[in-house]
Amino acid sequence: MRTSKYIINVRISNDKYLLIHGYSGAVDIVSNNVVNILRKGNYELMNEIDFNSLRKRGYITNRNIEEERKIVKTIVKILQEKSRVDSTFTIIISYDCNFRCSYCIEGKISEYGNQWTRESLTEEKINALYKSIDNIGYKKNKKKIIALYGGEPFLKENFQIMDYLIKKGEERDFSFTIITNGYELKYFEEIIKRNSVLSFQITLDGIEKIHNERRPHYKNNDSFEVLITNISWLLNIGKKVNIRINLDKTNSSNLIELINLFDERGWTSHSNFSTHISPIHIGALEAADFKLNQVIEYNYLSFSLLEKNDIINFINNSIKQDERFSIFNLPTYSVQNNIKNTLNSKKSLIYKGSFCSATANGFIFDPRGDIYTCWEIIGDESFKIGKYYPNFTLDKEKLQLWQNRDVSNIHNCLSCKYALFCGGGCAAQSFKKNKDMYHSYCDNFKTLFNIGVKDAYLELKTQQSNVKN
Ligand code: SF4
Ligand code: SF4
Repeated sequence: MRTSKYIINVRISNDKYLLIHGYSGAVDIVSNNVVNILRKGNYELMNEIDFNSLRKRGYITNRNIEEERKIVKTIVKILQEKSRVDSTFTIIISYDCNFRCSYCIEGKISEYGNQWTRESLTEEKINALYKSIDNIGYKKNKKKIIALYGGEPFLKENFQIMDYLIKKGEERDFSFTIITNGYELKYFEEIIKRNSVLSFQITLDGIEKIHNERRPHYKNNDSFEVLITNISWLLNIGKKVNIRINLDKTNSSNLIELINLFDERGWTSHSNFSTHISPIHIGALEAADFKLNQVIEYNYLSFSLLEKNDIINFINNSIKQDERFSIFNLPTYSVQNNIKNTLNSKKSLIYKGSFCSATANGFIFDPRGDIYTCWEIIGDESFKIGKYYPNFTLDKEKLQLWQNRDVSNIHNCLSCKYALFCGGGCAAQSFKKNKDMYHSYCDNFKTLFNIGVKDAYLELKTQQSNVKN
């Protein structure tokens, strides 16, 4: 008998730990003593009931390391296969955009020339696109969602084609979620009010001055006022709105003013309102092809990037001063929920075999007739996995390069106890760093995981003490 290599210990108080198993599905609150015994392997110091319980839950095992790795491999294969029968679809309406955001990947796209940004979907392309979706396959009889994105999907000139796209999707029972800068929504009222249009993600980087500096409209620098009106309108007509805040050091100190704005506008009392924080990462700037001197020129961006754990610490410290900061969903959101739900329901933990939809089941259709898997390398034809127009073709080798990038195929990840929570990190970033996507890209995952676990425990404790009172 030995202690499993796939145990994560997170200290939650002076005398307690959360034990989380990396493949058995178990989470348990245990004493320091149990953790010490597991570390040293002197199981004779614990009573039989505890020993049997720890064995049953996978913390003590008679498997050797190789056998444990094999189990992880098998779980990954099952998870990856399961996800593949349920593909996810994103449609890029056009590469064109009416904003000129300082950190945007579209800067790179415009370098490919005007023909890229001018290219848009046509009815013929949309028919071909849906036929390709049928060929790729999706679960029928289940609510299926297509994400619409750009460039900017809501440009006035896209009205007719957007209308056609939505109606054709509705014929196949698809619903839509839309990532938009939120500026020209009113021209699309008729489309937006349709029942199949469910939700919106809109980026608001701060109060008026900050937002307008970072996300100006190409003609009218003031995009802020229009956005505020449009977000209120969406909430009032019953649509879900998630506000994304791209954060770095220069806009972090203004979050409190943003919370005040959310309150003043009555958004925080809407059940359909949510907001999340996303760090601007160096990869995004590289994708936008920022040269170092350009970064320095952009005063508000220069050397001001925040790490994900800086953001979490900043928000958690701010919550101590003002409870309203808890409105922001953080990058640890999914870990926190996973642990909280498991502790609450006593069901197994949820695992994943790969990092994101690009390495599992995601297909992105662009306006040129091409198919990709990943947001960050979109437009780079060497990563194209196929075409839907004029004819549907998939390059199986290229597709497999993405879909096989799971933790069982990345040397460091297979032995990592976080593997089935992390999924190996971002493939695009791994490629940028190593010129090979089959490397681990940890991106501070272990630190974030531990923070998420502690926050889950604290949240549950607070809920329980509220119930008692
Ligand atoms: S591989 Fe990385 S950049 Fe591409 S979609 Fe996944 S997380 Fe995003
Ligand atoms: S990327 Fe890093 S943290 Fe994630 S599974 Fe691989 S080795 Fe572990």
